[in-house]
Amino acid sequence: MADLITDVAVIGAGLSGLACARSLQARGVDFLLIEASDRPGGRVRTDTLDGFRLDRGFQVYLTAYPEASRVLDHRALDLRAFEPGSMVAARGALHRLMDPWRRPLSILDGALARVGSLQDKLRVASLRADARAGTPADRYAHPEGQAIDELRQRGFSRGMIDSFFRPFFGGIFFDPDLRTSTRMMRFVFRMFAQGDAAVPALGMEQIPAQLAAALPGDRVHCGAAAESITHAGLALRDGRRVAARAVVIATPSAEARRLLGLPPGRPWRSVTNLCYALDGPPPVTEPILILDGDGHGPVTTLAFMSAVSPSYAPPGAALASASVLGVPEATDAELDAAARAQMAGWFPGQALHRWRLLRVTRIRQALPDQTPPWYTEPQWPARVRPGAPAVYRAGDCCDTASIDGALVAGRRAAEHALHDLGLSGARSP
Ligand SMILES: Cc1cc2nc3c(=O)[nH]c(=O)nc-3n(C[C@H](O)[C@H](O)[C@H](O)COP(=O)(O)OP(=O)(O)OC[C@H]3O[C@@H](n4cnc5c(N)ncnc54)[C@H](O)[C@@H]3O)c2cc1C
Repeated sequence: MADLITDVAVIGAGLSGLACARSLQARGVDFLLIEASDRPGGRVRTDTLDGFRLDRGFQVYLTAYPEASRVLDHRALDLRAFEPGSMVAARGALHRLMDPWRRPLSILDGALARVGSLQDKLRVASLRADARAGTPADRYAHPEGQAIDELRQRGFSRGMIDSFFRPFFGGIFFDPDLRTSTRMMRFVFRMFAQGDAAVPALGMEQIPAQLAAALPGDRVHCGAAAESITHAGLALRDGRRVAARAVVIATPSAEARRLLGLPPGRPWRSVTNLCYALDGPPPVTEPILILDGDGHGPVTTLAFMSAVSPSYAPPGAALASASVLGVPEATDAELDAAARAQMAGWFPGQALHRWRLLRVTRIRQALPDQTPPWYTEPQWPARVRPGAPAVYRAGDCCDTASIDGALVAGRRAAEHALHDLGLSGARSP
């Protein structure tokens, strides 16, 4: 006897599960969203601590994301944009790198005058033109390779790769070796060329919160983990049974594989984030991303979040968010000391010993490893198996591993389920 009954049970209320539920809701189809943790959002979370808003790992929203722009209300998110461009910390100084994505030739006067060559700037312009051509889906027409190989084949200098691409793209994919698929690199390049990198004024969690707010509260069950898929629906870890005609798995890939009885898949890309409270204004007051151009680490990227959105810190204070690729074995105290020593070189004369460490977050399962062969279309077909219940797959590992890809995969799984259940023409709510 089932404890809960629905048409479609969706496992996981990250962005993908939320997008799936939203598509089902739009067709008036009953669903239950089963979430193991205390609230929706998955990997996109913002915690408040001492009046600071701490995103769980440094993340940005790209305003050009096609699916997300359609699904989300940008105005209600009150997006605050970063400067297009970045600062490269190299050889004891900060160098401004003008917007390489939208105005590649403007970087002639920027940091690359020191870390790259004139040819590098022309190659950025060419890579950008290629990434912007056609539609986003056209990237599947290009053979898939590793980002580092494409950058080398295009003739980028070692200085340009090490001082810019490695911290920038490596910092996005948590992949210092730049082995990530060229298809993903082109997608991200295109997004940077077409829009801004931004955060919602009140933190990244506003994104899933906006989607969750539109769903009926009694259809979202938090603190309820799916244990297994049964012949009738789902068994929850707390012993309850869910009867469903279809099940959508919108968990990270490792848990999806467990639920499907598959062996563990690829390793994950990991990242560690250190948040610092500053009592006064930050050394860089512009909303700009700072990259480690020396490659000595441990910090790869640094952002003063309160310079992007003042709500990230209490009045008069500032918030720094530093990212370290991987999950180092060092203790928090050791990592903190190494990060401060490195950043002290970026900001001579600043009293970094006064920065207060708020939190160290080690995120082992941050992004799927997107080394080719990976980025086929789609990576995981949404239909896993027919029958009762029919099983579908969503989650960011089914598309671009990003906010946008998670939303696409959720919608796509819902559309397949609606079609197969004969509910495509279901009433609008
Ligand atoms: C530190 C960091 C930085 C990032 N930076 C960016 C960025 O700048 N831009 C960008 O676009 N993307 C970024 N991403 C990626 C982006 O956050 C993810 O791609 C996206 O949030 C994935 O959403 P999802 O719904 O697929 O998975 P998840 O968010 O992982 O959601 C899965 C949900 O399933 C739940 N779950 C798991 N097992 C069960 C179970 N058995 N039963 C019930 N529920 C279960 C989990 O609790 C979770 O809530 C970043 C990610 C991280 C971690």
